[in-house]
Amino acid sequence: MKPNLSYPSLLTAGIALTLATLAGLELLPARTLDLKAPGVANGPYLVTADGKQDGHNVRWLDEKRLHLRCHYPEAKPFMGCGLTFVLTHQDPTRGMDLSRYDKLNLELVYKGNAPSVRLAARNFDPRFAKVEDANSARFHSVNLRPRDITKPVALELSELTVPEWWIHQYNLDRAYNRPSLENASAVSIDIPYLEAGQTHELEVRRLTLEGQWISHDRVYLGILCSWLLGASLVVLRGWGQLRVSHRRQQREIDALTLRTRQLRIEQEQLRRLATIDELTGVLNRRGLEQALDDLEEQAHGMTLVLVDIDHFKRINDRFGHDRGDEVLRRVAAVVAGNLRASDIFGRWGGEEFLIACRGTRIRDAARLAEKLRERIERSEITGPVGRIELTASFGVALAPPGGSTADALKRADAALYAAKDAGRNRVEMDTSLQSDSPTTVG
Ligand code: GH3
Ligand code: MG
Ligand code: MG
Repeated sequence: MKPNLSYPSLLTAGIALTLATLAGLELLPARTLDLKAPGVANGPYLVTADGKQDGHNVRWLDEKRLHLRCHYPEAKPFMGCGLTFVLTHQDPTRGMDLSRYDKLNLELVYKGNAPSVRLAARNFDPRFAKVEDANSARFHSVNLRPRDITKPVALELSELTVPEWWIHQYNLDRAYNRPSLENASAVSIDIPYLEAGQTHELEVRRLTLEGQWISHDRVYLGILCSWLLGASLVVLRGWGQLRVSHRRQQREIDALTLRTRQLRIEQEQLRRLATIDELTGVLNRRGLEQALDDLEEQAHGMTLVLVDIDHFKRINDRFGHDRGDEVLRRVAAVVAGNLRASDIFGRWGGEEFLIACRGTRIRDAARLAEKLRERIERSEITGPVGRIELTASFGVALAPPGGSTADALKRADAALYAAKDAGRNRVEMDTSLQSDSPTTVG
């Protein structure tokens, strides 16, 4: 089955995946590190303010419960006490990476009147720290007032800062004084700066680091990038599809343009074919009528000459229809070959032709007809039994400017009839516009 990859289903899947990821992120258990758990850290060791052991003034009340007591009966330098969890094992330069944690859950019970209990962490930075100088591992601390620790506290690790005295003591480049716990060598809780005669008790009930398995910011960034990537893919895919469809449409347009051009050429050919007589190649009746209509519209004065082959039926009968066709072609060629470019000529029907001489006086047209009559008479066409006798009769009539062509045709036809009547092989001129009867020329 083809998977349904429509945009709405992809969008729904994307939203569902995003929500599932966000929910999973919330439900994912935190990464924890219990420094009190066996095997995690070395110690803890009881220490004085100068980091040394002092079993007399500082001692366990209950080592298992990390419950200690300190009391300095007399004043001495570095009075302070606490306990320290050592995070290095065999290699004193290799500590633990606490930068993966962002919280420290602390539960302390303190009895005494010190102004603060101090939580501290050291980071062994091989760029400047020395194994023989325990104090050279960068010191980070936060002071907690006794009233702040009456309840369990959740400290941000970022609350641990590098104190002035340490910066001053080591006088390092600014970059080395930045808090960072990537290679933490120890975590300690102590009560610094004690006064003689006082008693302090401290119990560490909980010391747990807490962090995220995956940085939430990274997950948010990942989700954002995925959406951006998805959106880009959708846009790219849409753009690709648009290009494909644009190309297809362009091809279709090109094909249509070509087809239209071909159709126009075919239409023009058909239009020409529709006005051309197939047998003789001159205009047919439709072509002639169109041309005459145009001339009438332009109110051109002209003279019409109707040509009719004499006894054509006999030619057909005697020499056959094919030879008759040849005669028709020959007559058309003879007439066409003796006309001016401005004359219109075509086959009016059967063995009858029509010439329209634009802007020509009737006498001049009659003279042309006479010339044509002679040429036809002299044309050499041979049949199976010798030369074919070929003559034609002509009827000439004037179509004055603005006059009716149909009327002029009737008069030309009447003149032609008169020519036939008078014995054929003649030119008769319609003189009805000037006199009543047609006049013979030549
Ligand atoms: P007239 O001298 O009185 O004009 O006599 P005609 O025989 O020429 O005239 P008619 O009208 O009696 O005959 C015309 C003949 O022309 C009849 C017809 O068969 C023939 N014809 C018409 N069209 C064609 C054609 O295309 N080819 C051939 N071979 N003959 C045709
Ligand atoms: Mg005829
Ligand atoms: Mg005839």
